[in-house]
Amino acid sequence: MDDAAVAPNKLLDGVHFIAGSFRDGAGERLPVQDPATGEVIGHIAAATLEEVDAAVAAARAAFRPWAALPPKARAAALHRLGDRIASDALAMARLMTREQGKPVNEAKGEILKLAEACHFYAEEATRVHGEIIPNDQPGFQSLVVREPVGVVGAITPWNYPAELVGWKLCASLAAGCTIIIKPAELTPFTALAIAAKAAEAGIPSGVVNVVTGKGSVVGQALVDHPDVDKIAFTGSSAVGLHIQQTCPRIKRLSLELGGNCPMIVTASADIAAAVKGAVRRGFRNCGQICIAINRIYVARPVYDAFVEQLGAGADALSVANGLVQPDADLGAMASGEPLAKTEAHLADALGKGARLVAGGAAPEGAEYADGHFFRPTVVADCTHAMQVMTEETFGPLVGVAPFDDLDEAIRLANDTPYGLASYVYARDLVEVQTLSAGLDYGNVAINNVDAGIMNAPYGGRKQSGVGYEHGREGLLEYFNFKHVRLHHGVGA
Ligand code: NAD
Repeated sequence: MDDAAVAPNKLLDGVHFIAGSFRDGAGERLPVQDPATGEVIGHIAAATLEEVDAAVAAARAAFRPWAALPPKARAAALHRLGDRIASDALAMARLMTREQGKPVNEAKGEILKLAEACHFYAEEATRVHGEIIPNDQPGFQSLVVREPVGVVGAITPWNYPAELVGWKLCASLAAGCTIIIKPAELTPFTALAIAAKAAEAGIPSGVVNVVTGKGSVVGQALVDHPDVDKIAFTGSSAVGLHIQQTCPRIKRLSLELGGNCPMIVTASADIAAAVKGAVRRGFRNCGQICIAINRIYVARPVYDAFVEQLGAGADALSVANGLVQPDADLGAMASGEPLAKTEAHLADALGKGARLVAGGAAPEGAEYADGHFFRPTVVADCTHAMQVMTEETFGPLVGVAPFDDLDEAIRLANDTPYGLASYVYARDLVEVQTLSAGLDYGNVAINNVDAGIMNAPYGGRKQSGVGYEHGREGLLEYFNFKHVRLHHGVGA
């Protein structure tokens, strides 16, 4: 394939990106569909084990030279990558919409955040430094040096096809690591487009590689590979656990996994602001977000008003093919699987006595007939006997329940195997302090719904994972510490 011909919105059909070039894959072709229409828009080539080996060998060969570059040179490359991505944001967004379903404006926002991540980690690359530990004996000095982990295998899901690839890519490159990306089967083309941008930005051959295919084969091959030093995984808790249990060698693992995120609204809250936050974080990307608000606990005195306003807020959202209507609130869900799970959780809740407040079905009309659409849905009077309150739905479904005191709210919010993000709306400072201290979550957003920002650590507890992305902590995941104990003889 002629690399120069790669336009940002071109589907890179059936290729891998290995050692700086796009190569036609040798393996079986798997179709990729537009979830809004069902149309087959292209194919991925299922990578063979030889192709995985070639990608790992390319990343290994590139590692030492890349790590040896002055941090300023790696930073400059990341800045160029950020600029290239930002300048093609609309074309890349349209490509993402075709494979993932989110509306173009939302997809463009994601691409621009990836560009922001490139610039953030470019700056961080120049600020990495070690430490000198106070002498334990005269004549000795302990230096703590940071060295890049090596070759990284990045395995990513389909809900944020650019950002979840990008955070791993940017942190790897800033630290001096090289990377092999295995994107989700549903959304390979955004990852390949990012690789094209890396080539345009002059990032040396082999530093960035992309291999496509099934997780159980290609992802597992990276996990098993003796020459991959670290796996950076984002995806379901089930696959994360599988990786942790089956990894045949000791290697660095960071696992960003599922969520079942609660929101608590107290009687002191600004109810209109809480409703606005719940609508945004409950239904954005059709609720297919690990930090989506899945369940809301509301103080009994404001419960009825909140439920009514949340229902109205959900009903006011537009649902459309996000390519045709770029500013739609919800596009198509990424595939039939999360849609079926949403319907199952809704049926379970209604069957156990929940009250349907908004949505509850696919929108009507010929334009929705062939896609995976579902209206934003609110169910009230929920209990923890219902799946919507205790499991990750990953769809546009939010359950609501009342509470009587803060202890009960904290107990219900923490009654889950997950610990990713939680949300609080309250104006009373004692309530704010009690709730933020009591919530067993890696992220707590208070009177806002932006639990993850680029310059603060982002990670989960319990079954939501280990390790961090974002911020300095996210970069540290890509370093080993080396202790150099130096005897210089003075005073010995
Ligand atoms: P998934 O776990 O099914 O797949 C994720 C990736 O793992 C895919 O690339 C897949 O091909 C690969 N994979 C599957 N089996 C594998 C194996 N045996 N070995 C190696 N790789 C394998 O997840 P998904 O359905 O694509 O994504 C949705 C899930 O991701 C949700 O649970 C969501 O909460 C989670 N998620 C978490 C975060 C976070 O930051 N914590 C962010 C986004 C999504």
